[in-house]
Amino acid sequence: MSAFDRIWRARTDRRAFLLGGLALVGAGAFTRVQARPRWNASSPFSLGVASGDPMHDGVVLWTRLAPDPLNGGGMPPEPVEVRWEVADDEKMRQIVKRGRVTATAAWAHAVHVEVDGLKADRPYWYRFHAGEATSPIGRTRTLPKPGDEADRLRFAFASCQHYETGVFTAYRHLAAEDLDVVFHLGDYIYEGPGRDGQVRKHQGLEIMTLPDYRTRYAQYKLDPDLQQAHAAFPWIVTPDDHEVENNYAGDVSEQDDPREAFLARRAAAYQAYYEHMPLRRRSVPMGPAIQLYRRFTYGKLASFFVLDTRQFRSNQPCGDGLKAPCPGVSDPQATMLGAAQERWLFESLAKSKGQWNVLPQQVMVAKVDRGTGADERYSMDQWSGYDAGRTRLLEFFAARKPSNPVVLTGDIHSNWVNDLKVDFRSANAPAVATEFVGTSITSGGDGLDQAATMKDVLAENPFVKFQNSQRGYVSCTVTPKAWQADYQVVDYVTRPDAPKKTRASFRLTDGRPGAERL
Ligand code: FE
Ligand code: CA
Repeated sequence: MSAFDRIWRARTDRRAFLLGGLALVGAGAFTRVQARPRWNASSPFSLGVASGDPMHDGVVLWTRLAPDPLNGGGMPPEPVEVRWEVADDEKMRQIVKRGRVTATAAWAHAVHVEVDGLKADRPYWYRFHAGEATSPIGRTRTLPKPGDEADRLRFAFASCQHYETGVFTAYRHLAAEDLDVVFHLGDYIYEGPGRDGQVRKHQGLEIMTLPDYRTRYAQYKLDPDLQQAHAAFPWIVTPDDHEVENNYAGDVSEQDDPREAFLARRAAAYQAYYEHMPLRRRSVPMGPAIQLYRRFTYGKLASFFVLDTRQFRSNQPCGDGLKAPCPGVSDPQATMLGAAQERWLFESLAKSKGQWNVLPQQVMVAKVDRGTGADERYSMDQWSGYDAGRTRLLEFFAARKPSNPVVLTGDIHSNWVNDLKVDFRSANAPAVATEFVGTSITSGGDGLDQAATMKDVLAENPFVKFQNSQRGYVSCTVTPKAWQADYQVVDYVTRPDAPKKTRASFRLTDGRPGAERL
């Protein structure tokens, strides 16, 4: 089947899905919710548990019933009752909250419980029951109250977990850390077809339809290290491109598919993303639209502004790839965030009381020139392809001086530490913010400490303080006075059990933009 046919099949399936959803609503009065479902040999909790989008008084608890995860889930079409419990202790002896929720076929029998009324800044444990089956126990944590002094925050950020190119050993190391929260910056799945000769193999062809996306999430979520990392901490997630399609921009697909067909595919992708992530009701998708940019407040210590740099993007002004900038990059209409998100970000930053103002997002902000000497070449899928929007952001930092801005980035399967400047080409221009780019969990395979070509890149771009292309994640310790970023790497992912190494550590000091190597 051609890619085009598959997209149109996706569109037809979407219609069938919508009709199915309506039919279910219509039949709701007559369809009994199964309160005592029977499971055969396999657990319905095969995909594990997760929690996310924490607040000071609550958190989202997630699971999905899927006794046969790689064959459509294996659930009957009827809604099924799921019971949930939250406890003060890891043995689940002191239950502090419990309730019931209905898992429906329209949402792949996923459940999202928004627990509230919890105490601030403390751990909780949770689990689910469906019929006789009980899920594994997950641990989560609430945030401190917005006005509270919070003296220390520990979090990690991760991205880019291509299933075929390696095993998720980095997540086992992440799960063993002592963290308050984890940020995922996108490429949670990859959309490509199964390929032979890799470490593992995607099931099926390139994913296009809602059932395809669901099966892909199920395949990733069967990984025990990923499940462990979800069960250990609450996660705050935002997708990048591969949750839909490589390097898409808004309603423009990589290969310029018909707009309507691409939006049908995007709707399927966003629905499956919501179904598999611990997101709040505000993020329930409406067709091809999903609300993902949002704020989190960690006491007075840190405010996080999670961005969505894919959904509202204008088309890449100079096309894709690594090239010399065309005049389009300076077009003020070219946008990475879209007008509404950009206004929200600037208004929120202007009002923020956070000591550290953190932007977890997807693609590199720093203007890294990949050409040698006078030759200038930039990655057009990153902020460098949207220079006018980047300049608005950096000038905002320079002029309005929000307290300690820090950008967290994924996407490029390598570690970087960058000073961000309004004028990157001037050696004397002051830094206005810092960018920590975290590498991939697996994408790119084993990787290299430093590729030979990187020597030139570092010489060309003196605002780059560190570069490394191994696999891993970044863990951060934040206090009112200082921020420490530890670049955690593994030497290989094509074989299991690589030990963790802290490859480099950087410090930011309150009131002084720019990173120092420790
Ligand atoms: Fe990636
Ligand atoms: Ca990407």
